Amino acid sequence: MDFLAYFLDKLKQKASFYYGLSLKIELSFDLKGCRLIGQCKKLSSKNYLIRLHAKLLKEFNKIYIKDVLTHEFAHAIQMELFVKSKPHSKEWKNIVEVLSGVEYAKIDKVHYNLADKKRETYPYACSCSKYHLTSVRHKKVAKKRAVYMCKKCSGVLRFIG
Ligand SMILES: [Zn+2]
Ligand SMILES: [Zn+2]
Repeated sequence: MDFLAYFLDKLKQKASFYYGLSLKIELSFDLKGCRLIGQCKKLSSKNYLIRLHAKLLKEFNKIYIKDVLTHEFAHAIQMELFVKSKPHSKEWKNIVEVLSGVEYAKIDKVHYNLADKKRETYPYACSCSKYHLTSVRHKKVAKKRAVYMCKKCSGVLRFIG
């Protein structure tokens, strides 16, 4: 049995032992990019989908599995036990502590260097300079929620892409 299956099994045993929950967990490996490193979705009662990041799983393997699978599995327990509880609330932290057997503050925070974090930028210009705006800013401009001006000439920046 590989480590992922082994570790998921351990988590399920703990869910059953500590919370009397028998959870069905489906795994997918379809997360890409740098926005999400893991995600937990409720499919139906006691039935969850945990989405994992294939590249991080390959690169960080056991570290990633312990960190992210515990994190997402705790969300599944949280969603099952609490109707109203914010994602990384006290209740969730408490579940992480139970699952990992370590005080939350003492759990090592893993930093994943997603090297391909190339941010897409959009070219803008005024009469004197060229700028590169982030996609967040570009969207604001496109939706007419913001106007950006040049610091030098105070001209309005216009999209030139
Ligand atoms: Zn989370
Ligand atoms: Zn200017």
